[in-house]
Amino acid sequence: MKKKNPNLFSFGKVYCSIFGHKLRVSKNVTDHIHEYQCAKCGMEMTDTANGFLARLTPKFKETNEYLAKIHRRRKGKSLAQAS
Ligand SMILES: [Zn+2]
Repeated sequence: MKKKNPNLFSFGKVYCSIFGHKLRVSKNVTDHIHEYQCAKCGMEMTDTANGFLARLTPKFKETNEYLAKIHRRRKGKSLAQAS
């Protein structure tokens, strides 16, 4: 029952499994939380609130959008106070 389909594995995924993901920051959520995307296979990761790196699930995306909103608001406020 072994069927080998070469299209099943993209080169990027093979590369990543050998050399690891090549993560690039794709979005700054806050000063400490960033979203990353692998340049090789396109996998998305994110920093979490407790300092871990996790797969960017729709749930995390939602959380990040919320955090970014608060972050922008806070930043705007402190800038207004500083001037
Ligand atoms: Zn990758």
